[in-house]
Amino acid sequence: MFKGILIEKDDAGYRATYTDIDDAVLGDGDVTVRVEWSTLNYKDGLAITGKGPVVRRFPMVPGIDMVGTVESSTHPDYPVGDAVVLNGWGVGEVHPGGLAQRIRLKGDWLVPLPTAFSARQAMAIGTAGYTAMLCVLALERHGVKPDDGEILVTGANGGVGSVAVAILARLGYTVIASTGRPQESDYLKRLGAAGIVDRAQFSEPGRPLGKERWAGAVDTVGSHTLANVCATTRYRGVVTACGLAQGMDLPASVAPFILRGVTLAGIDSVMCPREDRLVAWQRLARDLDVSLLDLMVTEIGLGEAIETASALLEGRVRGRVVVDVNR
Ligand code: NDP
Repeated sequence: MFKGILIEKDDAGYRATYTDIDDAVLGDGDVTVRVEWSTLNYKDGLAITGKGPVVRRFPMVPGIDMVGTVESSTHPDYPVGDAVVLNGWGVGEVHPGGLAQRIRLKGDWLVPLPTAFSARQAMAIGTAGYTAMLCVLALERHGVKPDDGEILVTGANGGVGSVAVAILARLGYTVIASTGRPQESDYLKRLGAAGIVDRAQFSEPGRPLGKERWAGAVDTVGSHTLANVCATTRYRGVVTACGLAQGMDLPASVAPFILRGVTLAGIDSVMCPREDRLVAWQRLARDLDVSLLDLMVTEIGLGEAIETASALLEGRVRGRVVVDVNR
């Protein structure tokens, strides 16, 4: 038995509980890991509260991220005692996840804990931070340079947003943070934002094209926000789309793409190939000022994960949540 969050769905309804879990619930795999830290991402919030169709098999242990030490293994790359990180691959959705003291999974899904980070720091970054890095890599791949102009980050106080602001600022970009929490402006400026804009200006249905402003954007919000960001992106600018905090829809026109040559780059962290993950983690080690993680992080125990999941979805959590699964 081990402690964890368990999601069940049956005649009594959908529910998440903090409980003792039988080893029989562990998934298939060639590596078993003693989990040290996990995190709460937006997707974990949806899974725990049942507000989004994230969990596709029951019972399920949520948690799309974890870091820990290999306890038993038949995988050649991960002997007992190695420190390993897991992000995505359907873990916490179709395969029992990281919000527990133990996990069993395919070694091919793991990456070694980068030497630049402690286990706790790796989870302070988590899927949110690794996705922020994928967004930055996509901006670079499409040729956006620091001198090109302002880069907008939407949902800036969230996990992806906070890390994106910090990385982009460190790389020399001029970052404008869009937020519904102006009271957190000082926090965003300490992460490196050069300016703050009210997210309300992007939230409502807008015109097909607006005044050109952004050389690039990291959008974590979707819906009207993404449409309006595309409509105000400069000629040949690049918008990376990774999130749906406002909505899954995209009520946009093709005008920014066919009249201004704007590129809309989709970002997926879940099935992202291993080589790209390794690059993202290497770049995080180089381009993220780890001292800023302390500013971003709220630490909780596993028993607090359920209530914190609701707070996260309600936009009451700033930055990142790390979960100590052993308290
Ligand atoms: P968080 O909850 O930490 O951050 C989301 C932020 O979005 C909030 O802090 C808030 O920022 C803003 N926001 C919330 N509701 C609204 C709204 N109705 N309208 C506009 N802005 C809103 O989530 P994460 O950072 O973990 O994830 C962000 C998004 O990215 C999620 O949709 C998540 O599913 C997605 N994601 C996708 C990945 C992928 O692989 N594509 C990987 C990781 C995340 P503020 O208060 O500053 O306005």
